[in-house]
Amino acid sequence: MKVTLAATVGTSLLAESACAAATQTQSRSHAFQFIQIPLPYAKEALEPSIDAMTMDIHYSKHHAAYIKNVNDAIVAENISYQAEADFFANASKLSAKARNNSGGAWNHNFFWMVMKPNGGGPPAGKLSDAINGSFGSFEKFKEQFTQAAMTRFGSGWAWLVIDTGKLKIGSTPNQDNPMMDVSDFKGTPLLGIDVWEHAYYLKYQNKRNEYVASWFNVINWDEVAKRLG
Ligand code: MN
Repeated sequence: MKVTLAATVGTSLLAESACAAATQTQSRSHAFQFIQIPLPYAKEALEPSIDAMTMDIHYSKHHAAYIKNVNDAIVAENISYQAEADFFANASKLSAKARNNSGGAWNHNFFWMVMKPNGGGPPAGKLSDAINGSFGSFEKFKEQFTQAAMTRFGSGWAWLVIDTGKLKIGSTPNQDNPMMDVSDFKGTPLLGIDVWEHAYYLKYQNKRNEYVASWFNVINWDEVAKRLG
């Protein structure tokens, strides 16, 4: 997959330069660094559900800052985890900076991938069967997912996850995610929506319900199905 290859190359380049600087004073292993994936579509591609300016600020400012801040924390705090999953499994041991920004880095890479232009509609095949089996129907799934997105007070995310073979819907605060040991809601994310105001306020102002309803038109179900396996 192109995106993964690009990200992998980026990782090793960044790690090389971080390590080259570090070896000036001490010998240390290569620091793992989070990578911002290239946006898989143009910034205006998800209009009218997500406007180009929101996408631009969200990707280039908010997400870029999470990436920079977690990578700064990794170096400053000598964090030695070598995989994203290790950060989340050990989130309870991270500083607030490392926890919030590792979540922000991963959650947004995931968010860009589970959306696409001309997406939405009901899913097909095995994923459709799984959703119908767990929630009764696609409409019931939509209702429950929307409910999770609407009742997350303040900033956070709503998720569809798989947990020990079962699909579940829930939400997390701030930049936490369901892979974190500190999360009340756990599982492997299949789909997620960012309900921070920065994700919708320019276009929708306080109307989170309209943002969520329109966002269903840009869901990349192929990506969700791939994650279901
Ligand atoms: Mn966001």
